[in-house]
Amino acid sequence: MPEADPGGGSGTARLIDGKAAAARIRAEVARQAAALAARHGLVPGLAVVLVGEDPASQVYVRNKVRQTGETGMRSFETRLPATVSQARLLDEVARLNADPAVHGILVQLPLPKHVEEAAITDAIAPAKDVDGFSIVNTGLLAARGAGMIPCTPLGCLLLLKETRPALAGLNALVVGRSNIVGKPMLQLLLREHCTVTVAHSRTRNLADECRRADILVAAIGKPRMIRGDWIRPGATVIDVGINRVRVDTPEGPREKLVGDVDFDAAVRVAGAITPVPGGVGPMTIACLLRNTITAACAQHGVDPGGLSG
Ligand code: NDP
Repeated sequence: MPEADPGGGSGTARLIDGKAAAARIRAEVARQAAALAARHGLVPGLAVVLVGEDPASQVYVRNKVRQTGETGMRSFETRLPATVSQARLLDEVARLNADPAVHGILVQLPLPKHVEEAAITDAIAPAKDVDGFSIVNTGLLAARGAGMIPCTPLGCLLLLKETRPALAGLNALVVGRSNIVGKPMLQLLLREHCTVTVAHSRTRNLADECRRADILVAAIGKPRMIRGDWIRPGATVIDVGINRVRVDTPEGPREKLVGDVDFDAAVRVAGAITPVPGGVGPMTIACLLRNTITAACAQHGVDPGGLSG
């Protein structure tokens, strides 16, 4: 039997605190990095490649580099101009693949239009592909439930498991079918034995699909699109969306981050829900750091589980 709803649908959903969960993951990563250094003389290294001047990408890369250092790992940064050729970018990936100090490689997306993203992500050695976007890791997840798991869906899954330890048999709806969120999320929920539906822009009656879902993961990119009266009472809602909207305040207009779910309405119906910001967002980088430890351990034949004691 599916587990009863966790928050009761009693009027105010439990808030799923992604900030606190991410801090716990980072603390565990720091412990594991220290143990790797002390017992194996190994400092995990994460290489981040940034192409062009996209302001959002620059912020993401800065945060990734900072948090890598804070957890006792080494970071390597390559910055290339937006005009860089695909061949030059492939050379850089090949160089990082061959560098033994680099255990994880991340090429910040999106890339300029003249570069074929798949050619770059597929060129990253699967063992170092800490974003899990290469065709090898995509296939491993789909066929065997294994490989390097993309960071945002992994973060969603960890939050879900903390909230509802018994996921088997629950109806899960993933809204969005992107390669970086929706599709890997589908695979992870299937791996947990959920009954999974994936909705997208051609889905005929999204509201009805939502009303059947014990677990709803929204990864759409449309501010507050999922309405409160679409949510099944007591459902667990994971809002991946990060949308910048303009709001009017007594001090004048300002920008605010909102999710793909109408939080103020959904919080009255759901059993548990992630806020935006402070829900899925902080989990993504924490899971990237976790994947870097996993990659370093796998490349050196170390059991990551044995590092925590
Ligand atoms: P994409 O644009 O790649 O995918 C969006 C998906 O939503 C598509 O599958 C699209 O369908 C679907 N969609 C669009 N409109 C509708 C609609 N009206 N009804 C149902 N489905 C619809 O986005 P991403 O997956 O990259 O990102 C989704 C959101 O998550 C964004 O807000 C992004 O900023 C955020 N994000 C947050 C991260 C984090 O760290 N928290 C990390 C990554 C993303 P179709 O395929 O038919 O076009």
